[in-house]
Amino acid sequence: MKFALFNDFQLGLVQDSRIYDIGLVLFGAEHPHPCLMKAFIDQYDSYKTNVEELIKEAPSFALSEVRLRQPVSKPGKILAAPVNYYSHQREMNLHNTARGLGFFLKANTSLIGPGDPIVLPAYKAGRRIDHELELAIVIGKKAKNVKAADAGDYLFGYTCLNDVTLRPDEQNEEERCLRKSFDTFTPMGPWIVTADEVGDAQNLEMALHVNDERRQKINTKEMVCGIGELVEIFSHVATLEPGDIIATGTPDGVAPIRRGDRVRIEIERIGVLANPVEAES
Ligand code: MN
Repeated sequence: MKFALFNDFQLGLVQDSRIYDIGLVLFGAEHPHPCLMKAFIDQYDSYKTNVEELIKEAPSFALSEVRLRQPVSKPGKILAAPVNYYSHQREMNLHNTARGLGFFLKANTSLIGPGDPIVLPAYKAGRRIDHELELAIVIGKKAKNVKAADAGDYLFGYTCLNDVTLRPDEQNEEERCLRKSFDTFTPMGPWIVTADEVGDAQNLEMALHVNDERRQKINTKEMVCGIGELVEIFSHVATLEPGDIIATGTPDGVAPIRRGDRVRIEIERIGVLANPVEAES
């Protein structure tokens, strides 16, 4: 199944070209939850058996009529794997991989949804800012000290993520956290496809285009640390909670984005995430 947030961060189920406002049925219009997707994921085991019933009761809209938002509006944390494809390790001339480096965090305020502009910050005008094509994991259950082989029990689903990055240079060597946490530097969406529907997430073709030029292309089987290993490494440090996001790393082909560009990510069995690029005035 596909779940999304739309318009004023309402919770929707996507089927064919329509979106069903199941959040209205489940939580009412005056819901107290700051993020309906997190509330939904928390209780997903009890909801999933009667989703078909929910659809019958829910008002629906054509997808083309709504504004899709980042599918988790405020995750507790966004963890991200640095250097998780050998092709990216080679192009950046780096010694280590995610297996040794672990993770960095991105500010959850950096999230934007499909169609929202990536805004190049005036604060770092003139610096190189790159796109990064990534598969994102959405955590489904509280996870601590989980073995790679058991990781599947803790996953809710998958979505597309662009880990927009300010590059270091000879004069500047900021921490990854700073370089990747500017507002608008984490486009995510268009929706979450549940893990059962995706099937083997370790065998998905994905690509990133800037305008009409293909810049990145990989299959997720090329990851250095697979999804299970990432969950194992990360959950031995931080308790993973429902709605947390793991960005699984980018392959080779990272390159600068400029004002006026349009960045488009497509991941097999998940969907398309496209964002324009603007510059802060
Ligand atoms: Mn990245």
